[in-house]
Amino acid sequence: MKVLIGLVAMLLVLPAAAQDFDAVEIKASQVSGHVWMLEGAGGTLGVSAGEDGIFLIDDQYAPLTPKILEAIAAIRKGPVEFVLNTHWHGDHVGGNENMGKTGSLIVAHDNVRARMSTDQFLEFLQKDVPASPKGALPVVTFSETVTFHINGDTLRVVHVPHAHTDGDALVQFDKADVIHMGDLYFSGMYPFIDLGSGGSVGGLVAGIEKALAMSGADTRFIAGHGPGSGREGLEGYLKMIRSVRDRVAELKTAGKTLEETVAAKPTADLDETWGQGWIKGDQFVEFVYMSL
Ligand SMILES: [Zn+2]
Repeated sequence: MKVLIGLVAMLLVLPAAAQDFDAVEIKASQVSGHVWMLEGAGGTLGVSAGEDGIFLIDDQYAPLTPKILEAIAAIRKGPVEFVLNTHWHGDHVGGNENMGKTGSLIVAHDNVRARMSTDQFLEFLQKDVPASPKGALPVVTFSETVTFHINGDTLRVVHVPHAHTDGDALVQFDKADVIHMGDLYFSGMYPFIDLGSGGSVGGLVAGIEKALAMSGADTRFIAGHGPGSGREGLEGYLKMIRSVRDRVAELKTAGKTLEETVAAKPTADLDETWGQGWIKGDQFVEFVYMSL
C-alpha cells in the first residue's frame, strides 16, 4: 500500500512542481446568466459578474492571478469584491494573498481559516503545507451558511461536513440556477477524499445528496475538477460512489483487511469509465475503506 501511495503522490506532485504556469491559459465559459466558470490549472473557478460587482469562487495558484484577473475583466470590468474559498487546498486558495491585495474580501468556512493558519501535512501527497501568511487568510468565516445578495441573485453558501475535507462549501446561485460543488465533484472521475483533512465517504455522499436536494431539473453543476454537468451527470457520479462504498463496506464487514479489499478489485467494472483521472480505482477503494 505504501508503494501505491508513493506512486500516486509522485504523479500528483511532479506535475505540480514542474508546472509551467506561463503555458496555462484561462478559459472562460458562461454557465447561465451572470454566472461563468474559468478553467486554468487547479480547481475550476466560479464567477458572478453583474451590476453590483464581481464575486469569485476560488483562485487557483498565485502565479495565475494576473491571467485570472484578465479573464474576469474580459467578462466585466471592475474589482473583485468577494472571494469565496470552497476549501483549503492550494489549488483553490493559492491566489488569496494576491486577491486580498486588490481589495477582495476573502470568505470561507471556519475550518478553512483554521487549517490555513497552521502548518498542515497532506498525508495523501506526503507533503508539508506551511501555514499561510496573514494576507492569504479568509477574513470572514462562517460555520453553517452565509448568503450574498448581489447581481440580482441570492448566493447561498452552505457548509457540508466531512466530505472532501472538513471545511467544504457549496455555492448555490438561486436565480441563475447553478451550484458550484467545489471538490465534492470530480466530474467523470473517482474523487480525491482528503481523509487527513477530515474528509469521509459518508460526508461526501451526504453532501452530494444535499446539492441534489437543493437543485431542480435544469440546475447546472460546476465541478471542482472536470467538466460541469446537469443533474444526470451528478446523479451518475453519486451512484458510482454509493456502489463502491457498498461493495467496500461488504468486504470490510466480512473481515477483509485493506490489502485484501484492494486485491479483490471491487471497482474492476468501473475503472474504465471512472479511473481515467488522477485517482485510480485502488486508491479510491483505499479512501473508502479507511473512512468506513
Ligand atoms: Zn481539493
